[in-house]
Amino acid sequence: MTSIVEEIRAAYATVGIRLADPAAYGTYYRLLCARCGQMVGNVGDRLLPGQARELVDGQLALYAAGLLGCPCGHQRDVARSLDPAPRPDAPQAGTR
Ligand SMILES: [Zn+2]
Repeated sequence: MTSIVEEIRAAYATVGIRLADPAAYGTYYRLLCARCGQMVGNVGDRLLPGQARELVDGQLALYAAGLLGCPCGHQRDVARSLDPAPRPDAPQAGTR
């Protein structure tokens, strides 16, 4: 199922992680930091369509907080630059 793998690859690419070749033991792919190449985890390819996207979206806050990802901080930087949630201290139009 190449499409699932491509979906996983695309989902992790948005937070600065790239997929390595499948590990020899089967259906797990190593997740590598896109900046320095350090291994930051594994992901299985037995996901349903859309699940990889949800997985990464759900972890976005953890990446942004530096709790997940590479010690070099690449995922933190990338996740912060995405930051889909409005900041509580951001000025709002129409307020005093
Ligand atoms: Zn790194």
